[in-house]
Amino acid sequence: MALKIWLDDKLVDEADAKVSVFDHGLLYGDGVFEGIRVYNGRVFELEAHIVRLYESAKVIRLEVPIGKSGLLGAIEKTVEANGVVDGYIRLVITRGVGTLGLNPFICKSSRLIIIADKIQLYPEELYEKGMKVISTVTVRNHPLAIPPQVKSLNYLNNILAKIEALDNDVPEAIMYNHEGYVAEATGDNVFIVRNGVIYTPPAEAGALEGITRALVIRLAEEQNFRVVEKNLTRHDLYVCDEFFLTGTAAEVIGIVDIDGRVIGDGRPGPVTRLLREEFFKYAHRKEK
Ligand code: PMP
Repeated sequence: MALKIWLDDKLVDEADAKVSVFDHGLLYGDGVFEGIRVYNGRVFELEAHIVRLYESAKVIRLEVPIGKSGLLGAIEKTVEANGVVDGYIRLVITRGVGTLGLNPFICKSSRLIIIADKIQLYPEELYEKGMKVISTVTVRNHPLAIPPQVKSLNYLNNILAKIEALDNDVPEAIMYNHEGYVAEATGDNVFIVRNGVIYTPPAEAGALEGITRALVIRLAEEQNFRVVEKNLTRHDLYVCDEFFLTGTAAEVIGIVDIDGRVIGDGRPGPVTRLLREEFFKYAHRKEK
């Protein structure tokens, strides 16, 4: 079924949802985006996604072409028009139409795109058995070159890493920064467990401040786990007791092998399974 897409200030048919070839989002990856889940008809962690979107836009001096309440209304209308009860929202703001030069300030009006659709999840089997990953040769963007906290349309660094993963027949890969510390996966944040303590790299290491990451930290602390943000090395990943990734699409997924090193007993461990369960309960809770 053809979708209804929100474009700037209204819903249009999918076939009419078009942007110019002169849009700097296309020409330069100049823009920001968010990926948001819908569970049981409720838009998940919406406030946090909106905050991150406005912060990303501010850093790249991009004007969000709509106020916050207008944006919330647009999201709601797009979800409703497409009958999405459990699905995914892609919110994109491009710099808009400019010239073939870089100058972003020539682009008069940034453009808002909202797509609400079904989501392609990893197969259930992968959650039960756990996933294999590799370490990439591609180094994560230097955090002083492209701030990792900005969820920009420029994903080439991650795409190069994803190609390495796919070339090695695994769905995800771990990226390291210029100092050799763990940054993140191509579309997910990294966590490990060692001696009952949970560790995750800080944003400064080159990680997006994931909404799922923040939620999982909170859920873990509610379960009385100590969660430490700390630089991690490849060695830390190889010898940890448990290893998992978090992200809007993946939720919480156990990693059981990295570069041929088996993690724990080769199955997602108890902390990973508990946090996945807590995440599920929270996402599917009945109250607002
Ligand atoms: N890192 C990167 C590079 C991402 O693109 C994403 C989102 N897919 C994440 C981490 C996870 O962030 P979130 O939990 O907000 O989806």
